[in-house]
Amino acid sequence: METISLIVPCYNEQASIQLFYDTVEKVFAQMNQSTAQYQPDYLFINDGSSDDTAKILRDLHQEHPETVHFISFSRNFGKEAAMAAGLRNATGDYVALMDVDLQDPPELLPKMLHIITTEPYDCVGCVQTSRKQNPIRAFLSASFYKVIDSLSDVKIKPNVRDYRLMTRRYVKAVNELTEYNRFSKGIFSWVGFQTKYLKYPGRPRAAGETHWSMVQLIEYSIEGIVDFSDAPLRIATFVGGISCFLAMIGIIIVVIRALCFGDAVAGWPSLVSIMLLIGGIQLFCLGILGKYIGKIYLETKRRPQYIIEEQA
Ligand code: UDP
Ligand code: MG
Repeated sequence: METISLIVPCYNEQASIQLFYDTVEKVFAQMNQSTAQYQPDYLFINDGSSDDTAKILRDLHQEHPETVHFISFSRNFGKEAAMAAGLRNATGDYVALMDVDLQDPPELLPKMLHIITTEPYDCVGCVQTSRKQNPIRAFLSASFYKVIDSLSDVKIKPNVRDYRLMTRRYVKAVNELTEYNRFSKGIFSWVGFQTKYLKYPGRPRAAGETHWSMVQLIEYSIEGIVDFSDAPLRIATFVGGISCFLAMIGIIIVVIRALCFGDAVAGWPSLVSIMLLIGGIQLFCLGILGKYIGKIYLETKRRPQYIIEEQA
């Protein structure tokens, strides 16, 4: 019998946990109907929830001490940290990452398991085909995938979820990346191996509500680009070079005009506009530089990605 570790990050999810557990149990019971093959091993990560999540997890562990385990963080460290903690502590033969709100349908697990055990893939990922999103969000999301695709070496499939099933050696490879700033979509792509993607229609949350605001999503996207590409730095250098070049041509024209025609310099407004433009470009490029320096600063502190308060 092979064990499947299910890593489930939970942040204020008191309404979803039991429902999630029951649904997954049903799926496994059905899968093991003919032959007992797979044993789920739940690893819930309580990401510093302020509701009853911790208590519910404790009770669930007491009820099923063999198969339900949890890690509680000392505060909210974010889903990336929760996933990292899960991947480091999972012991199963295969490891799956799932959301607790049932937006990652457990019914797909049998198919994913079938693929990973019979075909030469080390990871089976999931791509959402349709999702009711407001148009601005959908547009920003599509632009993000386009930008990261053209700027970075790693390829990230549009609309890929964190929902994935992985082999041991794949998880081991992911765990070897110990960076503090984690952008897991990029990490999963960076480690390589063969990944198969399953498509499924998006669905609403079973209970509770999403934790992501639009601003957070935009910040997350910028992090992703900065973590996996130095292209913004190159673009900044390029833009700086071009504006230097244009400025030099401008100066030559002005000098020749003054020498040959004795023109007094006219056009203060345009001059001021150009100065503002160049000042703006400089500040923008400094901002990009600052972003990378900030990353280096955080990385050199070598702080842990999370602090565990309780583990069972
Ligand atoms: N989550 C987490 N820490 C956070 C935010 C979210 O562990 O700081 C978990 C959350 O409990 C859920 C999953 O990450 O299991 C996905 O979160 P959510 O459903 O809010 O995101 P969405 O599905 O809307 O992208
Ligand atoms: Mg969700």
